[in-house]
Formats: sequence, structure tokens, C-alpha cells
Amino acid sequence: MVEEESKMYTSNNILMKKNRLGPVIAIDGPAGAGKTTIAKAIAKLFNMTYVSTGFIYRAITLKAVRLGVDIKDVESLVELIKNTELSIISNAERCCVVLDGKDVTKELTCPKVNAYVSEVSEIPQVRIALLDIQRAIAKKGYVVMDGRDIGTVVVPDADVKIFLVADLDERVRRRVSQIRQQGYEAVENKIADEMVHRDKIDSGRKIAPLKPAPDSFTIDTTGQTPEESIASIARLIQNILE
Ligand code: C5P
Repeated sequence: MVEEESKMYTSNNILMKKNRLGPVIAIDGPAGAGKTTIAKAIAKLFNMTYVSTGFIYRAITLKAVRLGVDIKDVESLVELIKNTELSIISNAERCCVVLDGKDVTKELTCPKVNAYVSEVSEIPQVRIALLDIQRAIAKKGYVVMDGRDIGTVVVPDADVKIFLVADLDERVRRRVSQIRQQGYEAVENKIADEMVHRDKIDSGRKIAPLKPAPDSFTIDTTGQTPEESIASIARLIQNILE
């Protein structure tokens, strides 16, 4: 179905506007709401690239964990970011992260990074230091960016802003199956606790908390198949971009 619909949507006839080369679609929401699956499918349908901004925070967390940097030591973390070379290589289907010359994409979703990434991400100095790389991606346009604060802080003038939500039980089920597919063990209760913990930090932090932008469309994906969510979101985007 996604394949068939791809003929209907292209970014070729979308007007270039704002201070960038093409449109930006922001997809924010809590963990497990379906952001990655939907963002990739939308990128494919509209002939755009897909970027997970969570990967940027994850890459910094991975480096800190590897080097044994105390994640509460803000100065060391900022210094670490200054001494880090980070590039994002992406197309519609994949978003890869090269950290100091090495592709670390596969390691970004390991349990240790999952456990610490929200603590790292709530530090204002870390967020500020990682803003430029995200805005540079947005400036090129033709991109679907998923994250927590894309529509509110990173690209407040994004062409389309989607805020995805889903019930906790369903989000946990999705995350468990995703983690198992990646070859890691996943205990449901533990994943649920971790998700609630991460959501709490992401929503409660002082700077750039997880929340819908006033001009975003909140879409609840509970009980929907990915195909159903993708089809309705694609229609919405098509209408807005036209
Ligand atoms: O999207 P993902 O689950 O990979 O994000 C991992 C974590 O990175 C989030 O829980 C959040 O703490 C942080 N993050 C963020 N702002 C973003 C993207 C991710 O704070 N734009």
C-alpha cells in the first residue's frame, strides 16, 4: 500500500518557502508512539529524507558511557560534545550516525543508552550545544524529523507539525517487540518502567519539554495499524503542503 501510494505524493511540486531549501515535517511525541515507523514511511511517500533527532542525543550518551563520563558532570559533557565529530547520513529508509569517524547506529539503541539518554537530554547546555546540527539538517529541507521538541524549539516554523500519542500499554508492546527484533532481551515490566521514567523526564524538563506545539496536529495511533496511521497522516500532510 505504501508502495502504491508513493506515486501520489512527491515533493517536486511543493513550494519552497521560509529560510530553507524545502519543507520540513516535524513529528514529535513520546517513546513508542510510532514516530520512527511513521516518519520513515512519510519520508518515502513524499520523497524526503528521515532524521531521528533522538539519535543525536543517543550518540552523545553512548560516547559518555563509553568514556565513563559522569552524566551529571555538565562541564565534562559539554567538553565532550565540543570534541565530538557527529554526522548524520540519512535517506528515506535509514538514518545513520557517524560518531568520530565510526558508524555507531546499531549501538544507539542498546540498553545502557536507553537508560541514560533522557538524563543527558534534560541538561540545558547539552540541548543548546546540539541545536545547530539539528537546524542545519532542517535548513536543507525535504526532511521528516522525529523527536520531542522539533515543532516547538528546533524548527518552530516547520511546514507540518504532527504530535503522535498512544496508550502506554500499546507503546510498551511496540517497544518490546522492537527491542527483541534488534536482538536484545526485553522484559515488559522493565520496559514499561523505563518508558514512564523517560516520558516523565522528557515532559517535565525545564528546557524544551515534550509537548505539542500549539499549531500541531495531535494524532492518537492507539489501535491503529501502521498503515492506517500512515495513510491518514499522509493525507493530512498532502493537504497542508498543497
Ligand atoms: O526518539 P528516541 O527515543 O530515540 O529519543 C531518545 C531520547 O532522546 C528521548 O527520550 C529524549 O530524552 C531525547 N530526545 C530529546 N529531544 C529530541 C529527541 C530525543 O530530548 N528532539
